Amino acid sequence: MTKGWSRFCLYSSGGILPPFFSSCIITNMFEQNLPNYTHTFLSYNDWLTRESSHYIFHYTKGSEAEKDIAHIEEVQELAYKKIVGLLHPPVPFKKIEYYFYPDADTKTKLMGDSWYALAILNEWCVHVLYTREDKPIGPHEDTHLLSLHLGQATPFIAEGLADYMVGHAWDGKSHLEHVRKGQGLGLDLNPAHYLTPQHWFETPDEHAIIFYSLAAAWTKYLIDTFSLKTYLSFYIQVKRSHTEAEVIALYAQVFEISLDELVAGFEKMVSSKEN
Ligand SMILES: [Zn+2]
Repeated sequence: MTKGWSRFCLYSSGGILPPFFSSCIITNMFEQNLPNYTHTFLSYNDWLTRESSHYIFHYTKGSEAEKDIAHIEEVQELAYKKIVGLLHPPVPFKKIEYYFYPDADTKTKLMGDSWYALAILNEWCVHVLYTREDKPIGPHEDTHLLSLHLGQATPFIAEGLADYMVGHAWDGKSHLEHVRKGQGLGLDLNPAHYLTPQHWFETPDEHAIIFYSLAAAWTKYLIDTFSLKTYLSFYIQVKRSHTEAEVIALYAQVFEISLDELVAGFEKMVSSKEN
């Protein structure tokens, strides 16, 4: 895959849980910046459908997704179990709906863009370009949906958790391998430089896999070094509206050492031959 699955996912400005969660009071919905999003897919008559315990999958006849649908169901149900086991979200009433598009043109026509994968927060659905070459399934998009009870963290942190849940980069290589490759290319891979949404969106698309890997490796480092509980405490508090200074202060408050010290520990781990 040449680009990130979800560079633009979760580009939103606030809100709380969608109304089908069982244990929350709704005051407003999530906002996502989706300038091209259309709902033509809802009136499309040629969907085939398969339903499992936690998902409804829509796909087209003769497509790669139709061929793989039993495997897709198995992968997503395993992902669901893994995410719920770790994040303990309130149980939603509604199943997650997946729409699989066989080519970029069909995807653009039916939902507005040709991107690989996108979770729509308010609609509890995921749109995927699924071809013989690119099969972006697994825990990434579902983590965005099932972590909504934790709030909407900054993109670097939210994408880090989503790709950490996958456990490896989307080409199957380890996140650390990509981080080391990025270092070799001279990219700025200091996690302290990606504190605000703007910083994240300015990272170069051609190296998306390296920046997603950096975010995931940083997440793993924080969880392994401190604890999942401490990390989640940070995740819940770090907001997209925060300034750089506020995020730096929050790192120090939650992890009880400075962000510079955290980065030094992370870089030592990346350069260690044991990892
Ligand atoms: Zn994502």
